[in-house]
Amino acid sequence: MRRRIPISLWLGTQRLPRDAEALRRVQKNRLGQLLDFAGRHSPYYRNLYPPACRPALSDLPLLTRAALRDRLREIATVPLDAGGLYFHSTSGWSGTPLRLPTNREELLFNALLWLAVYRAHGLRPWHRQVKFAHAGMNPDKRAVRHAWLYPRRYAPAVSSPEEKVRILREARPQSIAGWASLLGEVAFQLERENARLRIPLLFSASDMLWPSLRARIEERLGGRVVDIYGSIETGPIACECRQGRGYHVRSDFVLVELLDDQARPARAGRVVCTVLWRRMVPLIRYELGDYAEWADEPCPCGSPLPLLGRLHGRHQDLWRLPSGQWISSGALEETLIGDVPGIRVFQFIREAEDRVRLQLVTTDAFPAEAERAITERFRGRFGAVWALQVERVASIEKRPGEKFTPFVDRTGRPASAVDPGRP
Ligand SMILES: [Zn+2]
Repeated sequence: MRRRIPISLWLGTQRLPRDAEALRRVQKNRLGQLLDFAGRHSPYYRNLYPPACRPALSDLPLLTRAALRDRLREIATVPLDAGGLYFHSTSGWSGTPLRLPTNREELLFNALLWLAVYRAHGLRPWHRQVKFAHAGMNPDKRAVRHAWLYPRRYAPAVSSPEEKVRILREARPQSIAGWASLLGEVAFQLERENARLRIPLLFSASDMLWPSLRARIEERLGGRVVDIYGSIETGPIACECRQGRGYHVRSDFVLVELLDDQARPARAGRVVCTVLWRRMVPLIRYELGDYAEWADEPCPCGSPLPLLGRLHGRHQDLWRLPSGQWISSGALEETLIGDVPGIRVFQFIREAEDRVRLQLVTTDAFPAEAERAITERFRGRFGAVWALQVERVASIEKRPGEKFTPFVDRTGRPASAVDPGRP
């Protein structure tokens, strides 16, 4: 197979640029390679700028997740039915399901990037690790797992809190990776059992880590939480600094812009990413749907990497069942609709203490019997605790002033007993 990720990127997985000037050179070089590649191989980008002409990044349009899904065939640099492709399902976060094509080379590269982040925070090759994963997240674990990368056990994110604790007791890992809300599920279960674990490295990702949630996780799981900001599409974007002042952006691999409502650069705003290493589907000025703020002051650690002071708006929550049990909304999505084809947009709405409504915008691929299957799964998981009503709708409206989120709580109380959100 012809190598598509340039050698300069592979070399860069080993070390960070020395200073801000070296970082700028690296970024300019990698962005140039990406724009050249996209302009040559992607019909969408070929249409935007002539071959051999490198536009300024700010002249290119923003790419939303919905636009990426709808125009995937044009944006991709390979036919979607080409051999050797794997598909990452990213249904969980935005309410806009997407199947992102990738190949073995990109899977390995992405795994190396994550490993570099873990290693920088103390993970060593001999450490046992448990990763709680979404089934769609690792389309072919064999591509990376049997190598020398991680002595890692994958555990399903959908398992019950009791089951998660059981897996951890059995595996006795030195490190866990999973969504913050999911580590929260484990912590709350341990509180119920009045038990503690001793797991030194706790990597959280993909949803909000509130200060009090972090404290409870650290207390019960007996380790230090390192929060990583990343997504399936982008790989790791930013990771908490050991000195605790914010999140350093791995801007040698992912350029981050924060933009206001008029798409102007802002101190606080929408997160827009340009993924320097992807080639199957170039993600240039890709809007993740999150909000963040740049830090006011440079980090005392001296790293040349830019620093995000705060992350807002990763809208997954812990939901509490009337029984006192907790479930992460990501696990809810995975359990109920993760493998159902033909869902364009979904929204879970918690209407009342005992009632949940699931709205679905579907395509023709949605099987006729799926509605009943979803309801039955729900009953199997939650019994008589919650009643689910599935509703197929033409579109999902958001209330004025409300950011779209796939999980809405309208019971009028905070979704969890922890802080309602980052300040
Ligand atoms: Zn720092």
